[in-house]
This record gives sequence, structure tokens and C-alpha cells, in this order.
Amino acid sequence: MEHYDYIIIGAGASGLMLADALGKDAFFSNKRILLLDKASKDTNDRTWCFWEKGEGQFDDIVSKTWHHIYFGGKEFSKHFKIAPYSYKMIKGIDFFNAYLKRLETYPNIAFRQESVLEVKDYGNRVIVSTDITQFSALKVFNSIFDYKMAMHQDKYPVLQQHFLGWKVKTKSPIFDADQATYMDFSIPQKGNTRFMYVLPVSKTEALVEYTLFSKELLPKEEYENAIIDYLKINLNCDDFEIVDTEYGSIPMTCYDFREHHTKNMRYIGTAGGWAKPSTGYTFMSSSKKVPVLVEYLKTGSPLNLLSFKNRFWYYDMLFLDVLAKNNGNGRHIFETLFKNRDPRLIFRFLDEETSLAEDLNYVLGCPKWPFFRALFRRMVQ
Ligand SMILES: Cc1cc2nc3c(=O)[nH]c(=O)nc-3n(C[C@H](O)[C@H](O)[C@H](O)COP(=O)(O)OP(=O)(O)OC[C@H]3O[C@@H](n4cnc5c(N)ncnc54)[C@H](O)[C@@H]3O)c2cc1C
Repeated sequence: MEHYDYIIIGAGASGLMLADALGKDAFFSNKRILLLDKASKDTNDRTWCFWEKGEGQFDDIVSKTWHHIYFGGKEFSKHFKIAPYSYKMIKGIDFFNAYLKRLETYPNIAFRQESVLEVKDYGNRVIVSTDITQFSALKVFNSIFDYKMAMHQDKYPVLQQHFLGWKVKTKSPIFDADQATYMDFSIPQKGNTRFMYVLPVSKTEALVEYTLFSKELLPKEEYENAIIDYLKINLNCDDFEIVDTEYGSIPMTCYDFREHHTKNMRYIGTAGGWAKPSTGYTFMSSSKKVPVLVEYLKTGSPLNLLSFKNRFWYYDMLFLDVLAKNNGNGRHIFETLFKNRDPRLIFRFLDEETSLAEDLNYVLGCPKWPFFRALFRRMVQ
């Protein structure tokens, strides 16, 4: 059985970020590291977006940047300038190519395409069984996510940010290429939190995503029809070609994934609870957690004792409680928030970088009663 110091399962966003961080850190230069993925990572299956102030570590692979966002609601809609922030987009395939190429330059890291079937921590080493063979390692980082991880409990509701996106090419110029539609709630809500997310790359090309924050997935046609309706009714366009599609479901929950970690095996990425519960944004959150994990690894402490929980977790919990109790509340909450507060404060809050005074300012910009009720319910539980 081949032995490694560290095995990283999954060459997705978190696995590749972690492998790169270990590869370039001299502290780990004498450690043997194996990266495993069942896929060859040579297809574009997702688009990552995030906001950021000024330049950032991923700029080389950013394929589009917007300096304005649009928020659309029923009674309030506005175009916002977001400087010093910008909203950036990375194509999955560009990220995989860049990171896999980078990993080739680290002599201590190997990549193998194998499907992991089982991971077992025996206390002094972890055995990883794949469809081909078995490996042992001192520490394992696992990014295989399964909703089942969070579904055995009902203390923390589990919602999904689920969406279908079509990259469309239109005959006439209907998009504003300098503005991303962050959320457009001017569509039927049908008792849920439903919005359109539009990422234009030119006047005639955009990724249009029908997105929900809710518990249940929809039949595929419902996402498709909603995109067709939006293009027709909101953007006055019925002549378009679908160039690409993407589908996703990201967990939105405050459930503590930590209970699945062991001393020598740690879940990372979505599986590690790194998706921001209230938004589903995981890419930047992972890029911020990886360096913390790497420093922690150097201490030799048990992997299950590292906690990322902070006060923002409580805010996220109340937000998800509100949406789980009445899923139709989302539009009113976001509309009130964007009407009362600048998106730059919203971004800073969601980045968990605000001061306590700013938290209060943010919270006071939201509708009060749903949150008071959610807080009360938690207090009497
Ligand atoms: C379509 C889509 C769009 C998204 N857009 C955004 C966005 O704009 N912004 C944002 O912040 N977040 C976004 N997310 C959420 C999140 O950033 C991504 O899901 C991100 O890829 C999560 O990283 P990860 O490492 O946890 O998982 P992944 O990137 O999914 O990596 C997991 C890896 O594990 C591999 N794997 C799975 N099972 C096995 C197995 N049995 N054996 C071996 N390998 C296995 C998979 O092939 C995969 O490569 C999006 C998600 C999706 C699905």
C-alpha cells in the first residue's frame, strides 16, 4: 500500500487551493502529498463569481469583471456602483488548468484519477480505498460532499441554493456588459425566494441563472421555463441560442459539519461547511479558510478541533430560520436591505469583516419582525 503524509480527496475548488497552498509552502516540502479525483478535471462544469476590493490572487484567471451591480425587486430596484469592490468571474476550467499546471511544478505532489469509495481513520493512519487500490496517509482532507451529512438532524434547517443557468447568445444587444444582475426578484415568487442572476459578458452574451433559496429542488422544466419567461418578459428577447448550461445545488445551513471530522481526517470545501450559510458563496470563503487550515496543520493538533465558528454564524442561523419558516420572505428581506443599505456594507458584512457597530447598522437595515421572531424561537428552544 502506498503511503503519503497527506491525501487530498477532490481536485475541485477547495482541494486544489489546499494542494497549491501546501505545495508552495517550504514547511511541507519534505511531505509526500497525493491529490485524488474521480474526474479528469478537463471540462467546464461551473462558473465562480465573487466580489473583491481591487486586485486579488485569482486575477490571472478572472475572465470578466463588473464594476456595477443591479438589484431588482417588486417595489425597489437600483443600479449600484460598487467601487472599490468589483464583481469577478472565473470559469471552472481556467481554474482547474491553472492549478493543475501549478501542481506539476511541486515535486512532492502527485495527482491520480481514481474514485474514492471509503475513508477510515484508524487513529495512527487513515486508509483511503479507491476503485483501483488503497492508500494510507497520516492526514486526509476530504471534499466529497453529500447532503446526507446534514440531513440526519433538524436543529439547523438545510436549504439549498439551487439554480439552472443558461449561457445565451442573443441576436440583438440586450445586456449591459458592465453590470451584473446580482439579484432580480421581479419574477413570480410562488411562495419561495426566487430570483434571476445575470452575468453578461457582452451586449449579446450572458449567463442567465434562475435561482432559489429553498428546501426542495424543482423539475428541470420549471427552471428552463422561468429563464425563457425572463428573457421574453423582462428583457424583451425571444431570439436566443443556448451556448452552455450549468446546474448547481449548494447547501445553505448552519449545521456544524465538524462532527464528521476525525483527528486525522478533515472535510474541506462544501463538505467542510465552507459554503457561507446565508449565501452559498464558497469560492472566496474557501480561499480564506485554506491558509488558516495550513497554519493549523503545522501545529500538529487534531484536525477535528479547528473551528471556524464566529458571530456571523448566529446571524446566518437566524436568516436561515426565517427562510425555512416562511420561504416567501426572501424577496422582502433583500428588497428592504438593498433599499436601506449600500451594497458595499452588505459585501463587507457577508465577508464577515464588519465591526460590531456595522453589524448593528446592517441588521437595522433588515425587516425586524421575522428576525425577532426567529431569535425568540431559538431562545425558547
Ligand atoms: C454550478 C455551480 C456554480 C457555483 N458558483 C459559485 C459562485 O459563483 N461563487 C461561489 O462562491 N460558489 C459557487 N459555487 C459553490 C462552490 O464554490 C462550488 O461548489 C465549489 O466547487 C465547491 O468546492 P469544493 O472543493 O467543496 O467542491 P468541488 O469543487 O465540487 O470539488 C469536489 C471534487 O471532488 C471530486 N469527487 C467527488 N466524489 C469523488 C470520489 N468519490 N472520489 C474522488 N473524487 C471525488 C469531484 O470530482 C470534485 O472535483 C457553485 C457551485 C456550482 C455547482
